[in-house]
Amino acid sequence: MSDLGYSDTPIIPGSNWHVHDGDRPQPRGVTPSTEYGTPPSDATVLFDGTSLEGWESAREAGQPAGWKVENGYAEVVPGTGDIKSKATMGSMQLHLEWAAPEVVKGDGQGRGNSGVFLMEVYEIQVLDGYQNPTYPDGLTGGIYGQYPPLVNACREPGRWQCYDIIWVAPEFDGETLVSPACVTIMQNGILLHHAKELQGPTEHRKTAQYTPHAPQKSLKLQDHGDLVRFRNIWYRPLTGYDQA
Ligand code: MG
Repeated sequence: MSDLGYSDTPIIPGSNWHVHDGDRPQPRGVTPSTEYGTPPSDATVLFDGTSLEGWESAREAGQPAGWKVENGYAEVVPGTGDIKSKATMGSMQLHLEWAAPEVVKGDGQGRGNSGVFLMEVYEIQVLDGYQNPTYPDGLTGGIYGQYPPLVNACREPGRWQCYDIIWVAPEFDGETLVSPACVTIMQNGILLHHAKELQGPTEHRKTAQYTPHAPQKSLKLQDHGDLVRFRNIWYRPLTGYDQA
């Protein structure tokens, strides 16, 4: 028995542990990075700024990602199509950074549009939303077609912006939805959505409806024809309490 805590205290409801139980498993250590945004010690890096080797064309399986890599970022090459990670994941903490073109072109949905598609079908909008009115559920950080972000936290075009996303994957039992997807999103450290349940895959001009899919899928980034850049893409699978 450990002398770190107590064993003569009540059991915490729903657990096997006493209040202040010294024998309860210690949370494992994770070494934070020295600079915000770069990956901590247990992250899986999807893009480190040097190569899109971990990615492929979303249009044609097995074909290389057609976007260009330079100066530590990947940039959309319009017309080459969406790209997706070769790795697949379920519930996770995801970090990525993006920048809309510094030279402003177009307006509304036509300005600095891209997207982060969780599990390939749930789009968190990427858009140059700085002084650029559009329909709210299509604004930067919106759960496209379902929920506008709580606030517009956009920096000026050309500047790097961060998304920190906590994603809980939907669960299916055969054709039945057991629990919907749920997401928490911060943009530049500002809360956009808190534990918001999705109504289904995001759609253009339609309401959403779930279709069962695998428990782990790729991360997809959108080619919407604009020169949007990405860097520092990493994730950590979500784990439960008391796991070594
Ligand atoms: Mg988009």
